Parts: sequence; C-alpha cells; structure tokens
Amino acid sequence: MIAIGIHGGCGTLPVEMMSTAQWDEARAHLGDALRAGWALLARGAPALDAVEAAVVVLEDSPYFNAGYSCALNTDGEHELDASIMDGAALRAGAVCAVRRIRNPVRAARAVLDHGASVLLAGSAADAFAQAQGIAMVEPGYFTTERQVLALARLKARAEDGTIAMAGEAEKHGTVGAVALDALGNLAAATSTGGFNNKPAGRVGDTPVVGAGIYARNGVCAVSGTGQGEVFIRLVASYDVAARMMYARQSLESAANAVVHDALSAHRIGAGMVAIDAAGKVVTPFNTIGMYRGWVTTEGDLTVASHKEEHRLGRLVR
Ligand code: ASP
Repeated sequence: MIAIGIHGGCGTLPVEMMSTAQWDEARAHLGDALRAGWALLARGAPALDAVEAAVVVLEDSPYFNAGYSCALNTDGEHELDASIMDGAALRAGAVCAVRRIRNPVRAARAVLDHGASVLLAGSAADAFAQAQGIAMVEPGYFTTERQVLALARLKARAEDGTIAMAGEAEKHGTVGAVALDALGNLAAATSTGGFNNKPAGRVGDTPVVGAGIYARNGVCAVSGTGQGEVFIRLVASYDVAARMMYARQSLESAANAVVHDALSAHRIGAGMVAIDAAGKVVTPFNTIGMYRGWVTTEGDLTVASHKEEHRLGRLVR
C-alpha cells in the first residue's frame, strides 16, 4: 500500500488575484510534485525519497514560498528553512537560515543521512551542503518580482499601521509532503522561505522536529503551514501524533483538533497535510485556501487550491 499527500502553503491568494492560466499552472505543479513522489513509491523506493522528490518540485515552482521565489526578510534577504523526517527510525535532518542552497530539502536529507546532527544553521549549513555536492545558487536566484512587491507592501503596512489587514497570502507560505511506502514506512518533509518581512535571523517551525514536521511509523506523518511561532509553542505536528497515540484519536480528528481548535485559538492562518499508517491523507486548513493534493492508495490523484477539488485521474503502479 502506498500513498502521498502534499501542501503548498495556507497563504493562498484570493481567486481573483491570479489568472485562470496561473491557477492552472500552480495546480499542474502540485500534480507534478505528486507524480514525482508517487513514481518513486510505485518502484518500491522509501517514503523518505518520495517526500524529498515531491518537495524539490514545489521548491522549484514560483507559486509557493519555498526555494525559488520565496519570502524576503526585513533586510530584503532570503533565509530558507527545511526539514525531513523518517518515521521508521525517528531520524531527522534540517537546515535553517540558509542562503545559497537551491533545494534546501536536499540539504536536510544530507544532514539526516550524514547522521552527526539534526539541525545545521546559516553559513555552516550552506558550506555543509556545498561539500556534499548539492546544487548551490547565488542568493539572487530566489528573488522574484512577486516577493519584492510583497515585501514592499508589508513594509508600507508596517509603516501606516495596517499590518493587521494584510492577507495571509501577502505574508507567508510553505511546502510539504508526507508519504507511506510499500514497506509501511512514513516520512515527512517541509520547506519554506518563512514570512515576508520576517526579522533577519528568524527561524520558524519548519526545521523544528515536532513543530512544522513529524513522522512516526504506525502513527502518522505531518507537515505544517502557518505562523511558525505558534506551531513551535504548541508543538503542533507532534500534537497530532500524541492525540493519535495517547488519546486514540483518528488521524482526521487529531489533525482537525490541532488546526481548528488549538492553532485557530491563536488567531493565525494554519494548515497541514497528514497521513496515517493506512495511507489516509487529510489536509485541514482554516484560511480561504491551501494549495494541496494527494494520491490515494488506489492511485487517485486530486489537487486543490481553494474549496473546489480537481480530480486528475488515476496513476498506475
Ligand atoms: N510556517 C512557516 C514559517 O513560520 C510559514 C508558513 O507556513 O506560512 O516559517
């Protein structure tokens, strides 16, 4: 039995803010990410490989706040965070505040495989990735006009006191993937540029095990999106697993309770993709939309950005 789920962040723009062609392309990229992960799972590859491959596709897309076209901090610079976790042995790898790694999730995977640490930070993490032969870029690679405009808008709002009126999409986003492989292993990966106009040096929940990511065989794998400070304080991803392990809640009840009760109580936009040991995928969110998609154990592929879900057919194994 294999299955995979992804999210592209809960900071989705209102429908009228992008053209039909752009929405189509964003959804196509979600489909590409799912197919990349599924193709590996179908060949018997580990869930860890599948979530990494899916996140790489999302990092390379301009529509999501991770990798290419990610958020800018107060200094107008990019600092990216990413993580990956293996539910089989509870191994994890993460990088934070990196500036030159084209696909930060690949560096997170190298940290996991290397095994000497769980989280590497800043220029040392960049240097580690380079030494591992991972593709590096100039920081300008991540900059797009969309993010430059978003930063300018948020700085203007900060100045005129209208920051509370900023929409979720102006601020943030993240990408993530969860998967179940043929051997019953669960894995998760998360990658982000964080928040537009975030303080320089700020690290969010994405590289923090238990906060923006968690995976444990026999229970669940989770990847979160939303204001990271609250995910860290609530240990949100681990909370889904804890509810399932200790309170015997189903994946659906646990994930819904964390997003709609615990996180929503802090008045933040929040969402997650989560999968259980039977390959069931859930994608709760409390914003107007969340880029998301999944392939069921039967191979049925679905993607969505807002309420409406788009069935893209059945993948063969
Ligand atoms: N969780 C991310 C962070 O706080 C942002 C997001 O998902 O919107 O860095």
